[in-house]
Amino acid sequence: MTQIADRLTKVHCQIAAAAKAAQRQSQAIRLLAVSKTRQADELRQAWACGQQEFGENYLQEALDKIEALTDLNIGWHFIGPIQSNKTRPIAENFDWVHSVDRFKVAQRLNDQRPAGMPPLNICLQVNISKEASKSGVLPADLPTLAAKVAALKNIRLRGLMAIPASNDDPEQQRKPFAQMNDLLKSLQQQLPDQPLDTLSMGMSDDMDAAILEGATIVRIGTALFGPRDYSSQLQQS
Ligand SMILES: *Cc1c(COP(=O)(O)O)cnc(C)c1O
Repeated sequence: MTQIADRLTKVHCQIAAAAKAAQRQSQAIRLLAVSKTRQADELRQAWACGQQEFGENYLQEALDKIEALTDLNIGWHFIGPIQSNKTRPIAENFDWVHSVDRFKVAQRLNDQRPAGMPPLNICLQVNISKEASKSGVLPADLPTLAAKVAALKNIRLRGLMAIPASNDDPEQQRKPFAQMNDLLKSLQQQLPDQPLDTLSMGMSDDMDAAILEGATIVRIGTALFGPRDYSSQLQQS
């Protein structure tokens, strides 16, 4: 408990310091706790320390935790790769999806969002480093995809998400994040009626650079929960 509490405090301090360096308000940056491979109990501890939003990558693992934690009013974010035949439980159980990178997935999430629930918040994932192995829409294809997604009624297009190629140099880390910021600005001009207020970028090793370039959600796992033990990982789906 105290370990999660300490780490959470540290991460909040780091966010505040980076925000100050960027001359931004620290309240403009939301902390998403990335809880893949963590037990429901650890999320409960983080919740007790004030953390309210959690990000999950693997659907079945996430659904188990959502069920175990229904007594908490958690905001659930899906941040992992999406198979188009698995969209229904995502549409039914999450508040946000950060990893939409093709229209078919957006359309299915839209169609499967239950009536009576608020629209699903969506970020489009951009393959900003143009890596062949990574998911995400290429920057050149973003305007077309965004225009189509923006027309879906049960979806709120909130912004963009990226996982840049890793780089140890803090100055180099800023470049892809700055490109993301430019992409969001041009989308805001292209689609002035959309609530495009979100840049989901920055993880444990590059959150300072992301905040300097305008991140509004940082997705933090290791710095909050410690190193992940993949050998004990629950079944992925
Ligand atoms: C695992 C993961 C994170 C968190 O990474 P850390 O380095 O542990 O902070 C953030 N975003 C996505 C999409 C992830 O899969």
